[in-house]
Amino acid sequence: MNHTTTAGAEILVAGGGPAGSTAALSLAREGREVLLIEKRRENQPKVCGEFVSAEGVAVLRRLGVLEALLASGAVPITRTRLHAVSGDSFDSPLPESAGQSGLGVSRRLLDETLLAFAERAGVRILRGARLVGLSCEGSRWRARILVGGISIQASAIRILGADGRNSRVAALSGVGGSFGSSGIGMQAHLRRRVAPPDRVELLLLREGYAGLAPVETDRWCLGALLPSAGTCEDPYRRLLSSLAVHPEVRELLMDPESHLDHTAAFPVRMGWRGVTPPGLFLLGDAAGFLDPFSGQGIALALLGGEACARAALNPHPFRAVRGYREFLSRELAPRMVVAASLRQLLARPGWAEHLIRIFRQHPRIGRGVVGLTRITGSPGLGSLPRLAGRFLSP
Ligand SMILES: Cc1cc2nc3c(=O)[nH]c(=O)nc-3n(C[C@H](O)[C@H](O)[C@H](O)COP(=O)(O)OP(=O)(O)OC[C@H]3O[C@@H](n4cnc5c(N)ncnc54)[C@H](O)[C@@H]3O)c2cc1C
Repeated sequence: MNHTTTAGAEILVAGGGPAGSTAALSLAREGREVLLIEKRRENQPKVCGEFVSAEGVAVLRRLGVLEALLASGAVPITRTRLHAVSGDSFDSPLPESAGQSGLGVSRRLLDETLLAFAERAGVRILRGARLVGLSCEGSRWRARILVGGISIQASAIRILGADGRNSRVAALSGVGGSFGSSGIGMQAHLRRRVAPPDRVELLLLREGYAGLAPVETDRWCLGALLPSAGTCEDPYRRLLSSLAVHPEVRELLMDPESHLDHTAAFPVRMGWRGVTPPGLFLLGDAAGFLDPFSGQGIALALLGGEACARAALNPHPFRAVRGYREFLSRELAPRMVVAASLRQLLARPGWAEHLIRIFRQHPRIGRGVVGLTRITGSPGLGSLPRLAGRFLSP
């Protein structure tokens, strides 16, 4: 280590994904002094299906970021098509939220735009900076951060852990959690030679599932979750062979020039974390990782960023954490329960085909089921997730 230096801030945000940037941006706009650290340098890929649901797009609009994303080519998405391996499919409009539809946008564009807005609002951003130590002394938190060869000691009144599903903030502060099944998350960009459709495809596989969303420039984003296999087989090859049953992607996959890049992350485990100490908040995936099947992870990260910023402004640390905790159990827990249950149903042999047939005969039922995984429950079927969450919240 070359040398040690010190830094101070009212609020330290660890992680510059959608959750951390949204919280930092919201706090800076309230005149707070915020330091955000992000371990990645620019342009590193992130495993994601790159579909933002309407609830997330509504937050992007509130933040004033949506226009910039659309101007850079992000693709409005209003529909989804569910495909079974038998070739049967079901089309449904996606629920809107506050007049917004969904969006196909690469994580590179989304994350960098949010960070740029945060920086413009006055957030100090350290790139290539990794949180490696955390302790609490009285009412202040002390963090140790590594940037290049330099170790920085930073102190802050509030710590916001927005550092993703393998949260270091949670580990360093001793916050446990309850995590269930795991899988391999994968992402590939494929060349798109046609104008972007306003639809995201959800491809059910014999094992796992994949989503195909148009994003800006000339790309499709293929995001997938496969169950962990005990073999050393290359997960990308495994994904390609499972996808070969779907005519929508078969042609794309057979064209060697369409494969632009791919990456995998494993294990990806679903679950949520427990109660945090006063002055420390977990948000986005660090608070709980939802099955990507629902396509709500980014929306929850954005909503969590806003809610966490509001809580962090509360001068009473206990009340702040309690209020934010209520938000999590109201929004996160119900979605996890519904997404996991739906996934389990669709994973049973023959059930996806059976359900898709029912949806085609009774589109209202199909649309109701699509609506179940949304954050903003509407009356009727849409209010079930909230009800489930009341009984099953952490
Ligand atoms: C296969 C797959 C497909 C998905 N598809 C979708 C989809 O289509 N739509 C959707 O809404 N959601 C999807 N998700 C979920 C979505 O990607 C996440 O919910 C979302 O990224 C959460 O945002 P976040 O800001 O909480 O975390 P992240 O985006 O993970 O950001 C955390 C940041 O913290 C940084 N960091 C980590 N450790 C440290 C440290 N020690 N110090 C400093 N910085 C650190 C990381 O570099 C990272 O940038 C998918 C997930 C997977 C696995």
